Amino acid sequence: MPTASFFKQLIPPRKRYLLRQAAWFIRSMRYPGNSVYCPCCNRHFGRFIRWDPSDPKDDNYVCPNCSSQSRHRLLWHFLNARTRLFTDHFTVLHFAPEPFFWKKFRRQRNLTYIPVDLLSNLSEAKLDIQHLPFVNCTFDVVICNHVLEHVPDDRGALAELYRVMSPGGWAVVLVPMDYSRETTYEDQFITTPAERLRHFGQEDHVRICGRDYPLRMESAGFAVETVHYTAELPEKVRQRYKLMQDEDIFICRKS
Ligand SMILES: [Zn+2]
Repeated sequence: MPTASFFKQLIPPRKRYLLRQAAWFIRSMRYPGNSVYCPCCNRHFGRFIRWDPSDPKDDNYVCPNCSSQSRHRLLWHFLNARTRLFTDHFTVLHFAPEPFFWKKFRRQRNLTYIPVDLLSNLSEAKLDIQHLPFVNCTFDVVICNHVLEHVPDDRGALAELYRVMSPGGWAVVLVPMDYSRETTYEDQFITTPAERLRHFGQEDHVRICGRDYPLRMESAGFAVETVHYTAELPEKVRQRYKLMQDEDIFICRKS
């Protein structure tokens, strides 16, 4: 029986992405209706798919067509409603590009769009966020969605983001927050996937971000605004997009 890695070697990355999209499209036909809306793929469904059906407290929902999660739909709404990303001319650096965002941003004629990642095949270059090859003050906008919790030297990464950003630029940063923790929990000696799963909740996470995490962004030089965006939206929109209650957006500005 051929293994997943066999197919991985056989099928080029972009083709794999197209195949996955086709599979998701077929899946989406099992969710007809108009109760929820995904702005990432502009489709309506009877419902989204629960991220973790075994956890009754889990309020993360996946789009059956594009696989966007609640935080992606929140970010998409925010970028449309609260920024000029789709109208003004910006040079944008996007870490770990999500397929649906990648598809839309690269078509935006007002953007010079640079998607980068250590692993993703949608990126223009495989780069380490801790050591960026760009000269100072290159980018107007940085998008960094659920990346820093994977990065061992996140302080170094934040310093790099600050360095490559132009004065007046802004970064949109999201990390999974645990608001029950006053301080961020991390331990450089916890290195195996099994230990990381046990301590940090995911095999490739290296910390749990507590309430002090925005201070880390400020230490890099940014002025940080915490936007409780879900709370700002009407209940009708929250239900239609199936947004999580506790997903905050950090806007990091360089003056
Ligand atoms: Zn979608």
